[in-house]
This record gives sequence, structure tokens and C-alpha cells, in this order.
Amino acid sequence: MAASGGYRNGTHKGNMKVDRLVSLSSATKSSSLKSKPSPASPASSGLRRNSTGSVGGAKDDAGVPGRVRVAVRLRPRNAEESVADADFADCVELQPELKRLKLRKNNWDTDTYEFDEVLTEFASQKRVYEVVAKPVVESVLDGYNGTVMAYGQTGTGKTYTLGRLGEEDTAARGIMVRALEDILAEISPETDSVSVSYLQLYMETIQDLLDPTNDNISIMEDPKTGDVSLPGATLVEIRDQRSFVELLRLGEAHRFAANTKLNTESSRSHAMLMVHVKRSVKGRDSVLLSENCNSSHMVKTFKPPVVRKGKLVVVDLAGSERIDKSGSEGHTLEEAKSINLSLSALGKCINALAENSAHVPVRDSKLTRLLRDSFGGTARTSLVVTIGPSPRHRGETSSTIMFGQRAMKVENMLKIKEEFDYKSLSRRLEIQLDKLIVEHERQQKAFEDEVERITVEAQNRISETERNYADALEKERLKYQEDYMQSIKKLEEQWVMNQRKHGSERTTFELKDDNFDKALNRVVPVASAAEEISELKKLLQNEASLRTATEEEVNNLKSQVVQWKRIEAAGNSEILKLRKMLEDEAHQKEKLEEEIAILQSQLLQLSFEADETRRQLDRGESGKVLGNLDSFVSQIRHSQLSDSGNGDKASIAKLFEQVGLQKILSLLEAEDADVRIHAVKVVANLAAEETNQEKIVEAGGLSSLLMLLRSSEDETIQRVAAGAIANLAMNETNQELIMSQGGISLLSITATHAEDPQTLRMVAGAIANLCGNDKLQIKLRGEGGIKALLGMVRCGHPDVLAQVARGIANFAKCESRASSQGTKSGRSLLIEDGALPWIVQNANNEASPIRRHIELALCHLAQHEVNAKDMISGGALWELVRVSRDCSREDIRTLAHRTLNSSPTFQTELRRLRIEC
Ligand code: ADP
Ligand code: MG
Repeated sequence: MAASGGYRNGTHKGNMKVDRLVSLSSATKSSSLKSKPSPASPASSGLRRNSTGSVGGAKDDAGVPGRVRVAVRLRPRNAEESVADADFADCVELQPELKRLKLRKNNWDTDTYEFDEVLTEFASQKRVYEVVAKPVVESVLDGYNGTVMAYGQTGTGKTYTLGRLGEEDTAARGIMVRALEDILAEISPETDSVSVSYLQLYMETIQDLLDPTNDNISIMEDPKTGDVSLPGATLVEIRDQRSFVELLRLGEAHRFAANTKLNTESSRSHAMLMVHVKRSVKGRDSVLLSENCNSSHMVKTFKPPVVRKGKLVVVDLAGSERIDKSGSEGHTLEEAKSINLSLSALGKCINALAENSAHVPVRDSKLTRLLRDSFGGTARTSLVVTIGPSPRHRGETSSTIMFGQRAMKVENMLKIKEEFDYKSLSRRLEIQLDKLIVEHERQQKAFEDEVERITVEAQNRISETERNYADALEKERLKYQEDYMQSIKKLEEQWVMNQRKHGSERTTFELKDDNFDKALNRVVPVASAAEEISELKKLLQNEASLRTATEEEVNNLKSQVVQWKRIEAAGNSEILKLRKMLEDEAHQKEKLEEEIAILQSQLLQLSFEADETRRQLDRGESGKVLGNLDSFVSQIRHSQLSDSGNGDKASIAKLFEQVGLQKILSLLEAEDADVRIHAVKVVANLAAEETNQEKIVEAGGLSSLLMLLRSSEDETIQRVAAGAIANLAMNETNQELIMSQGGISLLSITATHAEDPQTLRMVAGAIANLCGNDKLQIKLRGEGGIKALLGMVRCGHPDVLAQVARGIANFAKCESRASSQGTKSGRSLLIEDGALPWIVQNANNEASPIRRHIELALCHLAQHEVNAKDMISGGALWELVRVSRDCSREDIRTLAHRTLNSSPTFQTELRRLRIEC
């Protein structure tokens, strides 16, 4: 019973009897458990369903207006009344079709009251249930609170209406049993639940009819919502109708026992059945967790399920008849007050609510506190007022009717009891979580298995690859070993070949060869394969290191060869440079010597002039000679100053004409040594000119010169004389003359004694010229010319050696000619006289004049087959081969080649030595 506020039908005023409220019957007609009509305005109201608690939110807190429905039920006359009131008419007359009740005031006057339902004495229990209780039950199933209450005088059928169990007669089942039947039929046992408490309120004490020891249950009120609950009361969950009926019977038995114990009557106590219906709402507002949905989706669409908690309160009130204040029934006044307290408080509250009073004394009694929600609250409330027909109880009947009429004015605001089911959600989440954990664990295991599998597979592959790799490596190793052995074999063969070729030449392969042999010897059959393999490995390593060493050595040798080649090239170019310088020097020297000769002849002339002058002075002609000499000297000086070239020769020629050859030659025998020197120089100078040579010889110059060579001990005279003789010896006639006059002997003597290289050069030059004469070969050799020539090599001066070489070449040439003409058959006189060693020794002399002459000499000697053996044994063949290959002059190279090829002896020897030529 709301203390204040809430919707009230404030328009109901005036005559209550004609008040016509919304028809309860119309609602019930269209209402059925299946159709689930709206509790406030079933089926047709169209009003939005509101909710209380957390679901609907505060905006719909006002709820749906729902007036307390009141039906009146008339009990048939009982046996006693049938007798006692036999002569009297009933005090009430019912007009059920008009939903009216007429209460007879007296014989001529009645009051008419309208009720939401008027149930006659013939109304079946089923119909009473359907009219009074079923709409409330439906509302409870929909999540509203509901109240069905019976009010009336003791014995009018309250308990009959509400509490009949109907065990002996099904049709007699009262509202409690039927309501539970409907509720149990409607709920789903999996998600919904029904539990009941059964209580008795007597003298403001709440007793538990399901547990008699629990006889003072206190009321708890939620300070926020004002909801009333009895936490101390036994709450029994109902699964089926039978157990519920059992429970009711047990409760009734307890009620009877309690009343006996307390010495009360059940009519003085209020019985109260509380049915808690808890239902989950599916597929409407709540989102249920699907097992199929994944966790992220689940979280996204997460919404706790909604649970509706309807509570049906069935109240069988104590009898409404007034208790005699005197305590006629054995109670004290205080007891009487207390017994009536709750009922009268209820009446007062209903009055207050009906009258829209500002104060509703809810807290005055336990009953009103317990029924706070049923009247003026949020519950759907249906009240059945029971009346008896007896006119004797007309007063009580009237007050009951008035109670009902007032109750009809009480307007409730129905609110759905709906809230999020966090417990259920938590349970579901826990289940889901467990499922996920299981799934996760399963996946984890699968993952680990997979990892294990992959690891094993990878390891297998790795070991397989390693095996393959080792195999390949072993194969490769064997292949290389084989290759290496073959290479070594080849090298060995090659080395043997080279050894054969070059005799004592040694190669570095010997080392390898030895090692290889050693290695081979070490390859002996071994007991086990492992040992063999390790042995082979060692061998391979040895061989590899040997190979590396050999390669290094080869590389070293290569680099050495390169270095040597570089040095050789540098040396060659140096030699060429030096040779060029030497030739230049020689040329320069020749020129200087020429000049010296000219100057000497001029000096000779001057001394001659001086001698002449002295003689003329002796004969008185001194002035003329001196004059001539002076002029000669001055001429020379002049010509020297003006012209150092042609002027000299011109001067000598002039001098020659002026002085006369005879005079010059005579001076060769002058006493004055200086004069002799000058004279010989002049003669020598003149002898250099081919045109003068014949004249000089005719005038006895050659003989004078030879005499001078023999007699003079002066080195200069000897040198100059020899030079003059050499010049004269260029002519073939002169050569014969020189020979016939014993010139070769003189030259030989000079050659033996002379120390000055220039003297020796001149002597050697003279002999060399003589060597070129075919006719003089034998004589020249016979008189020791060749030996003299060879003797001069002691000096070592290249100019001398060059003349010696020239002489030898000339001699060899003549011999060659003679042998080709058949005039000579024996071996070369040069060889006889021991020239060959020197020839071989100087065949590769670095001075090109020497080398050339000797090369030619070799060729000439080789042309005579009889010389071949000596040449071979003396090492001349090698030199010839070299000349045929390396000589820079093509003609000599060709000559040497031809010569070698034409000699059978040489050919045989060359073949023996396997030398290609
Ligand atoms: P209350 O509970 O109001 O004191 P009860 O339900 O105990 O009254 O009824 C008193 C007597 O009247 C009981 O024997 C009951 O069987 C009988 N009775 C009540 N209402 C009816 C009815 N409608 N039809 C037949 N008998 C009834
Ligand atoms: Mg009763």
C-alpha cells in the first residue's frame, strides 16, 4: 500500500454503487495463459510494458495503472442455515450478469453494489479461479507482483475458495492449487524456478507453516525499493504439483497444530502463501551467449540475461467479523486488540487509499507491511470477498461488501519486476570461460604437438642433409685424391722424360716423387675401414700440403724466372749501350790517331827541313832549307788553325812533292831519334794513302820500315812502323814483298816483345792482312805467324783481340777456299797451332768486332769436314749451333746453319744430342 503518490483514480466520486470501472470480466474473457495479455489492460490496452528494477530504467518508473479488482462470492446455504433460516429469504440477491449485488436492507429496500465479478453460490471453483486469480497468475508469470486475497466473515468460504486441495474431488481445487498448476505448466524448468513460503500471521507474529520451530519471522524492507521480504522464512522450491500439494497439506497441518497449541482458531489468524516465480527472458531483450560465437564477438555483444521475478501472494485473511471486546472467546482485551490489529489496519489503509488520503498507515501492522505492494503498490491485486446468505449475519455481510467496495477504489501502478541476471550471466560466463580454457588448453596441446612434430621433422631433415653432405664430401674427397694421384703420376712420367733429356738436370719433382712413393708405400691394407679412412685422410692431408709446397716452389721459380728475364733484358740493353759507346770511342780514337799521324808527319817534315838546313848551312845553303822548313811549319800551323781536315793531307801531299820521298825515307835512318820518329810517322801517314803505297815500296820504304822495326827498340817507332807496314800490307803485292823480306818474322818478334797494346794492334793488323793472302798460307804459318798472332791475345786489349780474330778469320777463309778447291786436304793449320780453344772461348765475346770475326772463322772451319771432330770435341759445335740460332747478323746465321746442315759429322752428333737445328 503506497503511502502516497502513484496513480489514483481520483475521478471516482459520488455514488459508489453506480461506479463502473473497467470491466474485469472483459479482461478475463480475452485473457488466457497462452495469449499473455497485458496485465494492466489485457490484450487491447496497447500500453507499453513497463519494468521496475534495473531493466526498464527510471524513465518508466510510473508503471501501468491497475486498479484492485474485487469479486464477491456467495456461499450456498449450509445445513445449519437451511434449517435456521428456512423461513427467511437470503439477505443478498445477486445479479451476476449485471455484476451487481443487492443487499436487502429490509423487506422493501435493498442496496445495490457493483463488483468486478459477482460469483453466485453456484459458481464453480474453476470459474472462481479464472475470474479472480488467473489474470493475477498470468501477471506474475510476466514478472509482476500479484496478490489474491480473500476477505470475509468466518465460515463464508475464504479457505474453501483459496485453499481447497481438491484431493477427493478435482473440481473442488482452490485458487492456490490451480495457480501453482498454471505456473508450473508455464515455466521452463531449465531456466525458471518456483519456490514457496507458507506463513501464518497471528497476533502480529509471523510463523513459518513449513517449519513450526520458526515461529517468529521478521520482516525486512529494502530501504531503497521498499520491497518487503521475509528472509527467515523457509523457501521451498517447487518442481511439481504433487510436491506443492504435499507442502500445502503440511502447512495446513502445522497451522492446525499451531492453533491448537496456541489455543486459537484458524479463523483468527491470517495465512499467507508466497510463490516466487523467477523466469529468464529468452530471445527478446537479452542476448544469450551462443556457444558458436567466438569470444571477441561474445564480448562485443555481451549483455546479461534478464530475469523476471514475479511474486504471487495468496492471503487467506482471518475472519472479518468483529470480535467481542469482552473477549467472549476467552481472550483478553489486549489479545483481542492484537488479533484484530492487522485486519483493522488493513481496513484503514484501504480506506485511506480509496479516499486518496495523504497518509496510509501501512506501518501499523505486520499485515499491512507485508501487503504494502498489494494495495497502492505495484502488484496486480485481486480480492474476493466472501459472503454468506444468512440474514442473521447481514451486518457482517454488509461490512464485507463495503470493504470490497472500498478496495475497488484502490489503484495500483503495476511494475514489472525485471532485472539483469548477473548471477546467471556470471554462471554462463564461467561456463563459457571454462569452455574457452578447455579449448585453449586443447589448442595449446595441439600447437605444442605441432611444434614437436615440426621440430622432429626439421631435425630429421637436418640429419638427412648432413648425411648427404658428408657423402658428397667423401665422394669429392676421393675424386680429388684420385685426380691428385693421377697428376702426380703424370708429373713423374714427365720428370723421368726430362731426366732422360737433360741428364743431370734435377727438378723439384724429385721431392714430390719421393714423397709420393712414400705415400704410396703407406697405403697398405688396414684391418678396419675406419683405420683405412683415417689413413687415407692423413695421406690426403700430406699430399695436399706437398702439393701446396710444390705450387709455392713453382711460383717462386716462376717469379725468379721473370726476375731474371727482367735483369737479362736490362743487361742486354746496357750491353748494347756500352757497345755503341765503345764504337763511338773507337771511331773517335781513329780520327784522333789520324790527326796525330798528320801532325807527326808535319813534325817529321819540319825536322827534315831542319836537317836539310843544317846540311845546307854546312854547304852554305842553310838559309834556303831553313826557309823551306819555316814555311812548311808555318803552313802546317796555318792550316791547323784554318782547317784541321783536308788541309793536312793537302799539306802532306805538298810536302811530299816539295821534299821528295827519297829524302823522307833517308831520314828513317837518321841518327837523331826524334828525326827517325818523325820520319816514320810521315811515312806511315803517307802509307795510309793507297796512292802513295806503291811509290813508297818502290823507293825501298818497305825495307826501311822492316829494318826500322827490327833495329829500333823505341816503342813509338815500332808502333808507327808496324802501322805503316800494316797499311802497306793491304796490298797483295806488298804482302808478298813483306813475306819475302822476312817481314813475318820481324812482326813475330815485335809481337813477342811489345807491351804497348797499340803496337800490338798494328802488328796484329799487319799479320791479319797477310793472313788473307791465299798464296802465303803455308809460309806464314811456317814462319810462326799464327802463333805470333795467338800470342798477342795475352794483352787482352779488345783492339788487339779484334785484329787477332780478323787474322784468324782471314786465315780460315783462305783455308776454306783452298779445301773447296781441293788444294788442301789436312785439317786446319789454325787447329794444328792450337787456335781452337781461344776461338771457342771468344766465340761469344761481348765485343762485336771480335765476335763477328770468330763467328766467321767458325763457319769457315766447319766447312771443312776434316775439322769437324776437333770442333766437336773442342766445343765449337755448340758455338756454331748458337750462332745459327742467335746471331744478330742474318748472313752469318744463315751461313752457320747451312754449314751445320752440310756436315754429316755435325748432323750425326746433333742427332745424338737430340738437338734440332
Ligand atoms: P471460512 O474459511 O471463511 O471460515 P470455510 O471455507 O471454512 O469458511 O467454509 C466454511 C464451511 O462452508 C466449510 O464447511 C465449507 O466446506 C463450506 N463452504 C464454504 N463455501 C462453500 C461453497 N461455495 N460451496 C459449498 N460449501 C461451501
Ligand atoms: Mg478459513
